[in-house]
Amino acid sequence: MPKIFIDPGHGGRDTGAIGNGLLEKDITLFIALEINRLLQNEYEGVLVQLSRTKDETVPLEERTDRANQWGADLYVAIHVNAGGGTGYEDYIYDRLDDDSATARIRDAIHEEVVKATGFRDRGKKKANFHVLRETAMPAVLTENGFIDRKEDAEKLNDTQFLRTVARGHVNGIARALDLTKKSNLSLTRVTVDGTQVGAFAEKENVLRQVERYLGKAKYIVLERIGM
Ligand SMILES: [Zn+2]
Repeated sequence: MPKIFIDPGHGGRDTGAIGNGLLEKDITLFIALEINRLLQNEYEGVLVQLSRTKDETVPLEERTDRANQWGADLYVAIHVNAGGGTGYEDYIYDRLDDDSATARIRDAIHEEVVKATGFRDRGKKKANFHVLRETAMPAVLTENGFIDRKEDAEKLNDTQFLRTVARGHVNGIARALDLTKKSNLSLTRVTVDGTQVGAFAEKENVLRQVERYLGKAKYIVLERIGM
């Protein structure tokens, strides 16, 4: 079961970047919670941990320690940029090659976020950031728009847009880790005295089988199965 550690940047006393009435820490938390929700709802057997689920101060060391202790397979840090510019960029540790496993995961996330958001593509970058250096698993840090740029801030102030940012991350993570989508349709398998009599999508059909064998069979087993 893939373990994914999502790290919404900043929090609590550490607001991160500020601009246009927005705080980076709020935006990163919203995106991270949405990534968590989408992964849990839509993919099979995915384990997700977040570095924080509310507005609280969490030191960088604690974040990477927790991911390392948990044995995460992937670490994704969510940030918002500032300092003049527009669009999306991401980072991996600067000692990694472009054909490393981490770079390949980064490539998928990069492509999907740019595709989902329509953000200007500022490129794939490398840096010696704590969360990239001190993580024992592939780690990617994303910078989602510029909080101090009016056009980007307008997008970041729109929860619908933040959902598309999350969607891009989830599509990239799913592609990179080859996650299995949950099927919308689940079937119920009916087994009577050890013999399977059928698998049904509709509840009425299951009940019909149960009524038919009830009182005659020694045991009837109903199991939920995927498609
Ligand atoms: Zn940040």
